Amino acid sequence: MTLRSRLTIAYVGFFAIALIALDIGLYLIVRQALYSNIDSDLERGAQYLQDGFTNSNEKLRASNNQRLQDYFSENSFFILTPQTVSGFDATNLKVQVYQPNGELVAKSPNLQYTMSVNQALLDQALIGQETTHTVDTGKMRTRELLQPLLFRGQVVGALQVTRSLRDTDFALQLLLYVLLGGGTIVLLTAARGGAWLTRAAFKPIDEVTRTAQSIVRAEDLSRRVPVPPAPDELQRLTVTVNDLLARLEGLFSAQRRFVADVSHELRTPLAAMQGNLEVLDRGAARDPELLAESLADMRREVARLIRMPNDLLLLAQSEAGVQLRDEPIELDTLLLEVHRELRPLAGDVQLRLGHEDQIIVRGDRDRIKQALLNLGINALQHTPTGGTVTLGLARQGDYAALTVADSGIGIGANDLPYIFDRFYRADRSRSRHLGGAGLGLAIVKWVAEAHSGRVEVTSAPGTGSQFSLLLPLKTDDATELQFTHQVAVLS
Ligand code: ADP
Repeated sequence: MTLRSRLTIAYVGFFAIALIALDIGLYLIVRQALYSNIDSDLERGAQYLQDGFTNSNEKLRASNNQRLQDYFSENSFFILTPQTVSGFDATNLKVQVYQPNGELVAKSPNLQYTMSVNQALLDQALIGQETTHTVDTGKMRTRELLQPLLFRGQVVGALQVTRSLRDTDFALQLLLYVLLGGGTIVLLTAARGGAWLTRAAFKPIDEVTRTAQSIVRAEDLSRRVPVPPAPDELQRLTVTVNDLLARLEGLFSAQRRFVADVSHELRTPLAAMQGNLEVLDRGAARDPELLAESLADMRREVARLIRMPNDLLLLAQSEAGVQLRDEPIELDTLLLEVHRELRPLAGDVQLRLGHEDQIIVRGDRDRIKQALLNLGINALQHTPTGGTVTLGLARQGDYAALTVADSGIGIGANDLPYIFDRFYRADRSRSRHLGGAGLGLAIVKWVAEAHSGRVEVTSAPGTGSQFSLLLPLKTDDATELQFTHQVAVLS
């Protein structure tokens, strides 16, 4: 079952429960109101009888005391003037009057037959207890009040006042039909409305699904789901789906580029080595000069093949988000170490140590050293004989700046934005000869960013380049400096 159908069913279900509860409540309230109306009619009728009875007997007693005495002595029934019961002729109340012995003595003129009475309830009325109840004879239903007839606080008979429930039952039945019929119509309308609403609400989601399916079918990650203009949940959903697609597209194209680059980078040194082997095969082994040249070529290619997987591994780790070490690093000592390690590679290039502040930062010493070595090797490789490469360390705002400046060939403005991309080489033939795979600066960039720092480069072709690795001065360092300053003031 679809989510849409489930929602519609749930909605109609809740609606039906609420409607049934409302209908039942309404029916009971109306029924209660009608019945209490009838009951107060019965009470009023009984009161009218009681008052009439009391009046006529008081008058009689005043006019003929003796006769009244007789009545008492004979224990027979009191006087009930005909006007009293005949007063009910035009009403829908029917009345019967009983003597204390239960004998029926009078009934209203609108009563063509004798009403039956529940003997037990009549007996109760004759001992002073009043009851109101519904009588169902099968043919008709009536509401009946049985109450004692009193004279001067003494029970002298009983009154049976009834009223037919035909009109009331008819009205209640009509109400029931209206509620049932109306409820059914309202429910059907709600079901249709609910189905329409959920369909309308789900339509944009269906569209998102269809677009996503077409993207899957066409294997085209460059397509995007149309974003609805209203700033609602759907807009957020489509924007999120589009972001996801953009990210996937970026990842897939990076992966494709990466595989293409790696296979190309692997193929080139292997092809070069194959060429050299063929040269040797054709007799170059006997020519010492050619042999030395081929071996040097092959050694360089092998060195590059060894370096490439190491570099790739490091970059893969960067993507996997490996935890870097967080230790204090004396950058000046590190710079000296890098200077010492680069010296053997300098050849005819002058390798100098420039301005050097004493700075401690926190970070991963090995990674920062690797980044500096990459910058140094690049500078040496791209600086012709007689040129200079200068290493320096200085404070620059909130950062420690490790600089590697060279007077080398420089980098063209067209290449500058891309030199930090993987496998990017500004001058492919020259760099290949120099043995780079285009990963060195990508590693430098990652190391800088992993330390919340950055790399900056300024370069002009023919003049030289300067790379700065900027590492944030951590709070620890700042506190230490502040502390030293305070001690100096105090002493
Ligand atoms: P590679 O392994 O080729 O050196 P890098 O990522 O380290 O790769 O450098 C990318 C490219 O940037 C190099 O191929 C080179 O063209 C250019 N480059 C890097 N450093 C320098 C520099 N100091 N002087 C001139 N060009 C440089």
